[in-house]
Amino acid sequence: MEKKLFIPGPVDVSPDVAEQMSRPMISHRGKEFSNLLENSTEKLKKLMFTDSNIFISTSSSTGLMEAAVRNCVKTKCLNVVNGAFSDRWHEITVSNGKEADILQFDWGSAVIPGILDEKLSKGDYDAVTIVHNETSTGVTSQLYEISEVIKNYDVIFLVDTVSSMGGIKIEVEKSGIDVCLFGVQKALALPPGLSVCSMSGKALEKAKTVPDRGYYFDFLTVMKYWEKRQSHITPSIPHMQALDYQLGKILDNEGLENRFKRHGEMGGLTRTWAKKNFELFPDEKYSSNTVTCIKNDKGINCDELKQKLSERGYVFSDGYGKLAGKTFRIAHMGDRTVEELRNYLDTIDEILDL
Ligand SMILES: *Cc1c(COP(=O)(O)O)cnc(C)c1O
Repeated sequence: MEKKLFIPGPVDVSPDVAEQMSRPMISHRGKEFSNLLENSTEKLKKLMFTDSNIFISTSSSTGLMEAAVRNCVKTKCLNVVNGAFSDRWHEITVSNGKEADILQFDWGSAVIPGILDEKLSKGDYDAVTIVHNETSTGVTSQLYEISEVIKNYDVIFLVDTVSSMGGIKIEVEKSGIDVCLFGVQKALALPPGLSVCSMSGKALEKAKTVPDRGYYFDFLTVMKYWEKRQSHITPSIPHMQALDYQLGKILDNEGLENRFKRHGEMGGLTRTWAKKNFELFPDEKYSSNTVTCIKNDKGINCDELKQKLSERGYVFSDGYGKLAGKTFRIAHMGDRTVEELRNYLDTIDEILDL
């Protein structure tokens, strides 16, 4: 039985989008590919509200987290941590031989700009990492407020928007983000295996001063090939064809604002349901419109619920890492409809007799 995925990535892929992945192969050195690269780049700039350079990477998002660190951290990085994925930024920074400090917030908390300001004022950092939408805790931090702090320091601003880009409005330029990265298997609803980042002029200037950037993820090599509208490696062309098609659908059929609105509705619906029966894990003000993290204060057996939902054609998401069993999550991102979400919530009600 085909099952609907209510996990925070990968998400269900619309059949017409999936079909794009089986189109005839083209040469990655030909004109057709150059056009594909150029067209997708233009669409991505609209999605991201930026004029920055764009890197479409044949890797998952974690590859681009590594790229951001390798290209943009020279002296010392501040990793702002409020969950599992922001913690991964730190692991990546340190394992690439870079110096780094952690600014720790509780799991479930958003990034608090005032505390970030204080930390930056005391340290000698040249880069800051944050996760916009902490998928492990269902928390969305407020980028505009954070950027008001960041702009007062000479740092490169590295932002993971993996589970929010395409579902929540993110204005890269206005938020002063130097590297904004995301994968395609979450709110963009494509199969996993491709990721995207923006690279500001400041990020590229910085990269020139950073040694040992490697080759595969080197921003400057990427840019050298971009000048010729080429890729430095053989990319996943099927993914790029599907991405270009899906971006066209998002921009021209649904419309960006409508897409953000639909995610807002799905977030609101899930929060109302969660508050009626349980409690939200994060403060409601920061509760995400792409994934809701719910306290399991009724002590329901998540494994049993998962099994029963599976029998009814759904894939359920438990809490992440140390939150497993204590919380569970409902993802509402990508091409998911409000109607499908409502049916899912009704099914949980039925199983748990809520
Ligand atoms: C899923 C996720 C990642 C990891 O993405 P991969 O595609 O598995 O590399 C990183 N950050 C956040 C916030 C995520 O949700």
